[in-house]
Amino acid sequence: MADNQSKIYDLVIVGAGSAGLAASIYASRYKINHLVVAHKPGGQAAWGHLIENYPGYQSIAGQELMDKFIEQAKNLGAEIKPVEVLEIIKQGQGFLIALRGEETIQTRSLILALGTEHKILNIPGEKEFWAKGVSYCATCDAPLYKNRTVAVVGGGDSALTAALLLASYATKVYLIHRRDVYRGQAAWEEKVMATPNIEKIFSTNLVVIRGDQVVREIALDKPYQGAMSLKVDGLFVEIGSAPSTYLAQKLGAALDDQEYIKVDQNCQTNIAGVFAAGDVTNQTRLKQILTAASQGAMATYGVYQYLNKKS
Ligand code: NAP
Repeated sequence: MADNQSKIYDLVIVGAGSAGLAASIYASRYKINHLVVAHKPGGQAAWGHLIENYPGYQSIAGQELMDKFIEQAKNLGAEIKPVEVLEIIKQGQGFLIALRGEETIQTRSLILALGTEHKILNIPGEKEFWAKGVSYCATCDAPLYKNRTVAVVGGGDSALTAALLLASYATKVYLIHRRDVYRGQAAWEEKVMATPNIEKIFSTNLVVIRGDQVVREIALDKPYQGAMSLKVDGLFVEIGSAPSTYLAQKLGAALDDQEYIKVDQNCQTNIAGVFAAGDVTNQTRLKQILTAASQGAMATYGVYQYLNKKS
């Protein structure tokens, strides 16, 4: 990794979802010289159709809420670099960060707010029909299915909210869950149960996705109304997410048995000067914008104490 011409920050925040942006807002208030680097500013929360549990907003689209986070961070002076981080290595008392495009930056401390990535079903046809009827983002693709028939797989808040959004466009939405109870919030479940064009299918798994140029049919592991398959125009996979820990792992951050970054109550990892916040950590069992943002603030407070102790 080349380290010539690299600029030195007191803090680099990797990730600009709710945790990273909240961390930046607090860093600006603490006057910490910092940079936010994120491949896709806004994070997973921006994909949320409607957020109805973030205090201060009765109901707001995920993208709109995250745009407000970004605007606030920038108004307070944050520099947000929309670039992919390729590698982070420890160098002396600080860290060297390689960005896509050969640029490197140096920092005295880090907040890893890396978030999570969508899980995949890993069944035949899923890769083949990705973007040809298989989608992982109802907010992005729902309008394409006006007056069509679609299926959503999953039983958490992502699946419930995706089904509700799709029901406002599609003629029929099959909501297919592998168990007989949903995992998501009761408020979303009530809305799903009260929506007549969502057909709920329980205790069923998908086994194959079939089609020609686009998705035409999904095969089930047990019959539904006498048939082993359903004719659909699209399939939305909403089965949760896994932590994005590739960079943290290479840096040497300790992970728990589910690969979340281990942090203490101050969001400090096992590496001095490296903090982590949000869905990527083992502390946010309730994965919400509110809890991620709160951890972002805690992490910055930890960094503030760390930098002051050192100087
Ligand atoms: P989640 O809560 O982990 O739920 C994932 C669902 O997918 C579970 O029902 C799970 O089944 C199912 N699943 C997992 N792997 C599967 C597989 N291979 N095949 C079939 N089904 C599978 O994930 P999420 O719904 O993405 O939510 C993640 C977090 O974000 C949660 O904390 C949630 O509250 C939050 N969130 C909030 C909102 C909102 O409030 N607006 C919206 C979206 C997400 P089991 O139930 O059997 O495990």
